Amino acid sequence: MPLAKGVMAVFTTRAGGVSGAPFASSNLALHVGDDDDAVLANRASTAAVLGVKAERTVWCEQVHGDVVATVTEDDAGRGATSHDDAIAGADGLVTDVQDLPLAVLAADCAPVLFAAPHRGIVAAVHAGRRGLVDAVLEIAVGTMLDLGADRADIVAAVGPSIGPCCYAVGDDVAAEVNAAVPATRAKTTDGRTALNLSAGIRAVLAREGVHAVTTVGGCTAHQPGAYFSYRRDGVTGRQAGIVWRT
Ligand SMILES: [Zn+2]
Repeated sequence: MPLAKGVMAVFTTRAGGVSGAPFASSNLALHVGDDDDAVLANRASTAAVLGVKAERTVWCEQVHGDVVATVTEDDAGRGATSHDDAIAGADGLVTDVQDLPLAVLAADCAPVLFAAPHRGIVAAVHAGRRGLVDAVLEIAVGTMLDLGADRADIVAAVGPSIGPCCYAVGDDVAAEVNAAVPATRAKTTDGRTALNLSAGIRAVLAREGVHAVTTVGGCTAHQPGAYFSYRRDGVTGRQAGIVWRT
């Protein structure tokens, strides 16, 4: 979908692709135990559909941390064919380079994609409960501002993530995340303590002055035909959020 003028953003599903169970069928992650050739075929077919170059797409290691890396032309293709070559230690990527797709993987955590179109800046962030506590989204926005973005120009899209319906957590975990982002406070439908990642992410973005936010996809755990869910399935694939300047 067009995220802003000159910027495209896409959230993939598990549909299509060639991976077998338990990664069926469009798993885009090289680090989850799937056959590498199948993942590379899935990445190639996804890129072809999107009209981007798989060999230029940049991926990050994703360690549930708070590092957001600024990537340049020299980073084109990092992580495209090997997880070992992905941007190390990062859970978010920012660039102002045209035609340099940024990708993050998720299966319950949310992929969050950003654009600041006037300066041609885009960002992709992997945001779960650790990322919310560690402020990875605030750091991503700050990195965009450092590159010259105007705060009022930033728009974002929040991809599919596990819903409060399926994300029961212990009271200690909830307390830590709620303290950082009160909007994550939630209950499951049967009344257990839960987290609402999507609401938390939107609250953080609003707090950061990012008000143009689109939410896509709904609960990953609730839609086994559409999305991979780590909490539901354990060993499973990953969908992706991909953003690029056209
Ligand atoms: Zn659910």
